[in-house]
Amino acid sequence: MHILVTGGAGYIGSHTCILLIEAGYDVIVFDNFSNASKESIKRVEKIVGEEITLIEGDIRNRDDLHNVFNMYKIDAVIHFAGLKAVGESVEKPLKYYDNNIHGTIVLCEVMAEHHCKSIVFSSSATVYGDPHTTPIKENFPLSATNPYGRSKLFIEEMLRDLYISDNAWKVVLLRYFNPVGAHTSGTIGEDPYGIPNNLMPFIAQTAVGTREYLSVFGDDYDTHDGTGVRDYLHVMDLADGHVKALDKINNFNEVITINLGTGTGYSVLDMVKAFEKASGKQVPYKIAPRRAGDIAKCFADATYAKEILGWEATRSIDEMCQDSWRWQSNNPNGYKKED
Ligand code: NAD
Ligand code: UDP
Repeated sequence: MHILVTGGAGYIGSHTCILLIEAGYDVIVFDNFSNASKESIKRVEKIVGEEITLIEGDIRNRDDLHNVFNMYKIDAVIHFAGLKAVGESVEKPLKYYDNNIHGTIVLCEVMAEHHCKSIVFSSSATVYGDPHTTPIKENFPLSATNPYGRSKLFIEEMLRDLYISDNAWKVVLLRYFNPVGAHTSGTIGEDPYGIPNNLMPFIAQTAVGTREYLSVFGDDYDTHDGTGVRDYLHVMDLADGHVKALDKINNFNEVITINLGTGTGYSVLDMVKAFEKASGKQVPYKIAPRRAGDIAKCFADATYAKEILGWEATRSIDEMCQDSWRWQSNNPNGYKKED
């Protein structure tokens, strides 16, 4: 089976390619490299021991996509391609709507023209907004607090409408919680451009000495130590969720929406301690004001994923930190040196 992986050179996509290939799928990576390096795919090739088909193109460009669909008989698409920086999305909303929403519209139109109607979409726990309670179930009310989140919410609705219009579509919406960690080889991992927005890459860069200290955004939340609580999930567990979704996609006769999380919440300070233990390094931090738009607690009820996909996260917080540290300490500048 040929699987088109849009955004396959990025953080989650590159890890997912490994498991897809190991599961016997033929992978075609499609990426415009707006937030990724070709080096990630070279390293994935080393891990899996085979060449990967890599097409440089933009999901908003119909011709780019038609070329791929003309070259290969694509059976399904895993759609990672998108911009994901919340802060930037507030400053440049149209860029996010164009890339994420318009890009997905063009992708789906081209898929339909080539009779490929199976799609696994990267959604996010951000679509729950500020949940009234935790753990979060898939049927909780949805809302968005920024253009990035709104783009995810809108694409979810768009894919549901597409299914209503034509039941031949197979759609799986995966709502990720907080992906962290790296492949155990330490050769691929998360390589954010510029100053990281997310907690784990910031902690890792502080431990390796690239950043002086971590700013902990708020210590007066209603949580066990006052700092924000999230559901951190190993990226290889997340990757495995995609393979399981693809394995089962033909069994589904409705749009399936699934939380991918561990079901356990850890605070910012829990993560700092776990990272210090895993790395043997200190992570200096200072308490800073709350970050605008942040919520106190966000963690999944992950029971539906187990029920419908037979998937559950297996890797511990210690493994997440060890693997993240192996990647960061082996590659203090990410992929940049090799570009
Ligand atoms: P990433 O930035 O590492 O990967 C996204 C990839 O898509 C990059 O390789 C980028 O170059 C590519 N891309 C972007 N726009 C494109 C376009 N128009 N055409 C072709 N390629 C394009 O991000 P990631 O962390 O791997 O996230 C993958 C997906 O998962 C994204 O859609 C993101 O919104 C979603 N998601 C991520 C997280 C997270 O915390 N990492 C959480 C929830 C959801
Ligand atoms: N956080 C922090 N300092 C940072 C980055 C994040 O204290 O430099 C906190 C943030 O306030 C939240 C948690 O870490 O409580 C996770 O933040 P992240 O941006 O990684 O994920 P999200 O908030 O999108 O779930």
